[in-house]
Amino acid sequence: MNDCIFCKIISGEIKSQIVYEDDFVVAFKDLNPQAPTHILIVPKKHIENIAAASEEDALLLGKIQLAAAKIAKDSNIKDFRLVANNGKGAGQSVMHLHYHLMAGRRFLWPAG
Ligand code: AMP
Repeated sequence: MNDCIFCKIISGEIKSQIVYEDDFVVAFKDLNPQAPTHILIVPKKHIENIAAASEEDALLLGKIQLAAAKIAKDSNIKDFRLVANNGKGAGQSVMHLHYHLMAGRRFLWPAG
């Protein structure tokens, strides 16, 4: 998508600190980290959010979560939070599906 900041990161047009990439997924450090480890995991395919995903994206959604588990394992992270904000009202500011992988501090539950 032309004006999507995460599509530009995926294409390399915008620089980011990429920590993982495969055929389907890219993961990079969040610009404004909310935890000592804060990585965004995004599909290369532009999908607005979880609500916009369809049956044909089922495998891709699984690959994102497996990438999160691999990134955590490779970084010796045992405990982490994986969050996807869906929609502006839930805090989604970038309209390209992404999961926040956060670790390295205590997380409250219920989340605020
Ligand atoms: P959300 O609010 O759930 O849509 O999350 C969007 C996240 O993208 C925020 O945590 C931002 O800090 C992060 N972000 C925005 N622009 C960039 C960028 N160019 N590189 C890395 N992270 C970014």
